[in-house]
Amino acid sequence: TSVFEDVKAAPADVIFALTTICDADTFDKKINLGVGAYRTEEGKPYVLPVVKKADHILVDDKNLDHEYLPILGQKAFRKESAKLILGASSKALAEDRVGAIQCISGTGALYAGAHFLSKHYPIKGAACYISTPTYANHRPLLEGVGLPVLEYPYWNPATKGLDLEGMLNAMQSAANGSIFLLHACAHNPTGVDPTPDQWRQIADVMEAKSHFTFFDCAYQGFASGNLDKDAYAVRYFVERGLELFVAQSYSKNFGLYSERAGNLTVVAKTPEIKDRIESQIAKAQRAVISNPPAYGSRIVSTVLTDKKLYSEWEQNLSTMANRIIHMRKVLFDELTRLETPGKWSHIVDQIGMFSFTGLTTPQVKVLKEKYHIYLLDNGRISVAGLNSKNVMYFAQAVDDVVR
Ligand code: PLP
Repeated sequence: TSVFEDVKAAPADVIFALTTICDADTFDKKINLGVGAYRTEEGKPYVLPVVKKADHILVDDKNLDHEYLPILGQKAFRKESAKLILGASSKALAEDRVGAIQCISGTGALYAGAHFLSKHYPIKGAACYISTPTYANHRPLLEGVGLPVLEYPYWNPATKGLDLEGMLNAMQSAANGSIFLLHACAHNPTGVDPTPDQWRQIADVMEAKSHFTFFDCAYQGFASGNLDKDAYAVRYFVERGLELFVAQSYSKNFGLYSERAGNLTVVAKTPEIKDRIESQIAKAQRAVISNPPAYGSRIVSTVLTDKKLYSEWEQNLSTMANRIIHMRKVLFDELTRLETPGKWSHIVDQIGMFSFTGLTTPQVKVLKEKYHIYLLDNGRISVAGLNSKNVMYFAQAVDDVVR
């Protein structure tokens, strides 16, 4: 008998399983709206033209080798990542109190930050609050490092918008010094972001209650098409003098999904504290991954350190963001034309890759079984999976299931 006789099978990951089922489906009009990855108008993965250019530059670089990177990662990548999210004129950068740790993409950056908090956060047993709903990996990741997880309201099903009151109340009633995981922009899965005035109200409570902010930033530049606009919340919190972490991912905004390029930016009160935090995260990183992978970070730093490539990247970003914004409009217009029951303006009001459609689990089941359209049971669609060839089919299917 095996020593592992009693090991039970773990459930498959819902989103990856959806892709497997869709891939196996032979119906010609099938649509995968599950996976959060950008698709072109032809429904194909997109290699950003600027990434192709960076690829060529790296191939031709005779000085590159395959030596280990330092434990904290590639220097230029770390520096540019912090600058990208905080802005070149950030006071925190000028004061040398910003740390940066290259991680295994956004997930790894969340992990590195959460792991550090689980070991070094001064309030023992402090809970980390996540939004209801949130990115499916947040809870298991936080629980995996031993942080108690609680939730704060975010989505109001009645308005299909932000439940600001519920969110602020939860922040008020949380124990002082709790940790709050906030989505920097393009909230996943709802696509609903606070306005600048709402961010002000959120920061007021975070500050008054001495809560710690951990931003998850997986969509900078991808949400609005503008890198500065998407960094608004993070920069505003830093401007107010708050200490915080930001987990940055280059999966979506560089289309580097498989290269696992990410960064944890640490904004501390002083340079000395920043150095100590970095040293602890370096120690922990050494034990888990030893040192981060080089290739994705080289692509990113090649682009971020070159003015011409940088502006080309900005164009690539607006191409992706604008196609998604356009698809939202086409879908909304078609549902309006069909006089589909219900209010659908949230589809154009929401931002980023995802739309929280408000479709119910039984409706999603019909979409899958009758129409071969694959989306999450909570009604979330990846708008990037829509294009001018399939959007009408999708709208008609939605119209059918809600009647
Ligand atoms: N955070 C959010 C909100 C996400 O949507 C994602 C990916 O979908 C991630 C983090 C992690 O992305 P990755 O590890 O691929 O960079």
